[in-house]
Order: sequence, then structure tokens, then C-alpha cells
Amino acid sequence: MLESHYNTVIIGAGPAGLMAAVEAYNPKHSIVLLEKMHKTGIKLRISGKGRCNITNEEGLQSFLNRFGKKGRFLKYAFSQFFNHDLLKYLNEMGVPTKLERGGRYFCESDRATDIAVAFEKKLSELKIPIAMKAHVTGLYKNDEGRFVIEVQHGGRQVLVQADQVCITSGGLGYPATGSTGEGYSMAQSFGHTIVDTAPSLVPVLTAGDIAKRIQGLSLRNVSVSIWDENKKVTELFGEMMFMRKGISGPIILTLSEILVNMLGSRQEVNIKIDLKPALDHKKLDLRLLREIAENKKQTFRTMLKSLLPLKMIDLFIDLLKIDAEKPLHQITAEERKRLRMLLKEFPMQVIGHDSYDRAIVTSGGISLKEINPITMESGLSSNLFLAGEVIDVNGETGGYNLTSSWSTGFLAGRSMRNNKLGVERYLEN
Ligand SMILES: Cc1cc2nc3c(=O)[nH]c(=O)nc-3n(C[C@H](O)[C@H](O)[C@H](O)COP(=O)(O)OP(=O)(O)OC[C@H]3O[C@@H](n4cnc5c(N)ncnc54)[C@H](O)[C@@H]3O)c2cc1C
Repeated sequence: MLESHYNTVIIGAGPAGLMAAVEAYNPKHSIVLLEKMHKTGIKLRISGKGRCNITNEEGLQSFLNRFGKKGRFLKYAFSQFFNHDLLKYLNEMGVPTKLERGGRYFCESDRATDIAVAFEKKLSELKIPIAMKAHVTGLYKNDEGRFVIEVQHGGRQVLVQADQVCITSGGLGYPATGSTGEGYSMAQSFGHTIVDTAPSLVPVLTAGDIAKRIQGLSLRNVSVSIWDENKKVTELFGEMMFMRKGISGPIILTLSEILVNMLGSRQEVNIKIDLKPALDHKKLDLRLLREIAENKKQTFRTMLKSLLPLKMIDLFIDLLKIDAEKPLHQITAEERKRLRMLLKEFPMQVIGHDSYDRAIVTSGGISLKEINPITMESGLSSNLFLAGEVIDVNGETGGYNLTSSWSTGFLAGRSMRNNKLGVERYLEN
């Protein structure tokens, strides 16, 4: 049962809300964490393919760069609670972690659920209740300046009053996890601006049947560039994969924010995949010449086997329109050039992107200009705190997004813990 009044109410039990609730602990305050789903942190539990890429080993400055211009806003939060603080924190809660490729930290158990369970245990020790299936449908301040929270709970609407509230209801990605963007309208009712939202870290759709023909193939150590007419917009090195209707994988997800943005004003965006980024055109040509000279009697198909993953060979033969059985000594300079160009600049057209249903994060959200980065308190309404993905912060893949949710949740929680409320504030004045 919900009480009719709490000092502190936190809306949404994802990573930001769980952290904010623990850090808001103050023996003088009554606190409740409201979660509309039947479980805490459903998105957290499926993060990192169920293993949870908790954070990243990277140093502060390059970590901040992973959030683009919005990184500046996180500087103070990270100065208070950063990657190694988080690892220590989780370890102390009984969740040991391990470091993997790319500086990425995971749960040692490979079970993201362990983190949600550890937070639940901690909250229970602190006697901070989590009200499950408590769906916040409205939030406003009454004439005395107290928050009134409308909650659908146990089949009826309950009105709960609070002295301070934190919105940690997440973005719009993977709505089945409970993140349906309701925090935006709650913040808007206090005058907050919502920066246009869009799916980010999302697979993109490509023209034709290329992706379909090689679906399931993962490419490591390739470089993908985005082009605007003849100008290279950006380029990223790493891992990608082909799916039935398009492409995904770490570098594509990271590039998706730019691609989604560009698709707003055009039908398609050209990208090029460099399958041999370690060799420039000249070095690659020398390698092809050497292969041909050393294996004159072998077929073109055999040479492709030494250059490409098996799944791509037939595709290359079709695109190049070169007879697969042609002996290498008959390959012309022009054919060799076409092969080199396809290896270095494999073209694809991005024609769309998946919806929020498949978006790892949401770009946009509550404007950072209206949030105090030192406290995470709203600049428009006192005692209203905002943290996690609901604010206009989103980063690359690699553990960055969860870190920002945990760090901003930490800061909001600490601010609420130290906030002088009601009688306390009155006595102090
Ligand atoms: C498939 C997937 C994999 C991911 N993997 C990683 C990863 O490995 N590493 C990484 O850094 N990031 C990852 N992310 C991103 C990361 O999970 C999110 O950025 C993070 O969960 C955001 O935390 P949050 O607490 O702000 O919001 P959320 O996790 O979205 O939690 C918000 C909570 O609020 C609740 N809620 C919403 N509205 C209401 C309401 N009206 N009333 C009550 N409760 C409400 C929701 O039910 C939800 O539980 C992944 C995301 C997805 C979708």
C-alpha cells in the first residue's frame, strides 16, 4: 500500500532510479520508488545481451567525448561518481565485475539481473520500499508547493504527496521494457523543454538485397564512412554486421545518430565500407599484384577466398561481373582496379532506420539548459530532480549510457539526501 505522503518520491526503477533511491537515503526522510512494471530495471536486465556492459575503462576526457557536445554537462556528475567508483560500488553490493575487449566492464557472472537484484537488496536493507505496478500518470504541484503524484496502483488511482520528486523514467527505446517517454510530459508540465527525440544506437535499413544475401555475417576491423555528396562526413573503425534488412553492430549503432539525422532531410545516405583499412590503395594494389603473380593458374574465386569472408565471395563475383573461374593471369588491370575499389569502398545506401522498438537509446529529451549539472535539480521547479536517459544525454555503445544514468542518478540521489525539507528547512531559517 502506498502512503499518502512521502518526503521523497522517485519515478522509475531503472538504473538511474535505483541508484537515486539508494543515494537519497536519509533516516529523517520517508522515501518510495515507484515502478510501473512488475520488475525493476527490465531494460537493465537485458542490457549487453543480458550480460550488462556496465561501464568503460576509458579516461574522463575521452569518456565525455563519447557523448558529443552533451558530454560537458556530465563533467561534474562524473567528477563525483565515475567508472571506478561504480565498479567499487557494485563490488561492495556483491556484484563483482570483469574487464573485456574495448575497455568494457561486465558482470563477472555474465548476468545483468544480478545488478537489479543487488540494488533491490540494498534498498530493502535501507527500508526504502519499491512500489511495483505503480504507474505514475500525472505530476503537479499544489497550492502549498507540494508535489501531487497521480498513481495507478492496485487497480485504482491514488494521490501521493511529496516534498521532492525525481523523474528517472527513461527514454523511448524498447518500450516493452517500460520506457515509454512518459517523463517528458511530466517535465513539460513544469515548463521544461523537450529537445526533439529520435531513436539512436539503432540498426539502419539498406537498399537492395546486399544485406540479405550476407545476413548473419559479422565483420571485425573494418572502417565505415558516411558521405554527403563527395564529402566524407565521418568514419569509424570497428565491428559491424549484416542483417536481413540492413546493418548493425557497434560502429553502425554509433553512426546511427548521424545517419538518422541525415535521413531527416534526404531519401538515402551513402556509406562506404573499407574492408582492408590497414592497407591504403597503393599497398592493396601491390598485394593483389603479388597474389596474381604467385598464383597465376588459380581462379579468381580462389584469390577472393584469401581476401574475403566466405559469405562475401559470391556477392563480390556478382557485383564485379568477373568470371569466377577466370585464371588469375587473365585478370586485366581494369578488373584488378574494380576489385580494389570494392574492397576499399564497398558502397551501400542507407534508406531508413529501425523504430524505437529496436533503439538502444533515445537522443533528445529534457533540455540540459534547464537542469543544474551540480545537483540534477530542475532550474524551473524547485525540489524536482531529473536523471538518467530521460534528460537530453546519449552516448556511444560501450557502457557509456549506463554510466551516465548511474552517475546522474547518484548525483540526484545525493542532492535529495542533503535537501532540507519542510520542518528541517523551516527550523534552519
Ligand atoms: C537492448 C538494450 C541493451 C543495452 N545495453 C547497454 C549496455 O550494455 N551498456 C550501456 O551502457 N547501455 C546499454 N543500454 C542502454 C541503457 O540500458 C539505458 O541507457 C539505461 O537503462 C537508461 O536507464 P534509466 O534508468 O534512465 O531508464 P530505464 O532503464 O529506461 O528505466 C526507466 C524505468 O522507469 C519506469 N517508468 C517509466 N515510466 C513510468 C511511469 N510513468 N511510472 C512509473 N514507472 C515508470 C520504466 O518501467 C523503467 O523501469 C541498452 C539498452 C537496450 C534497450
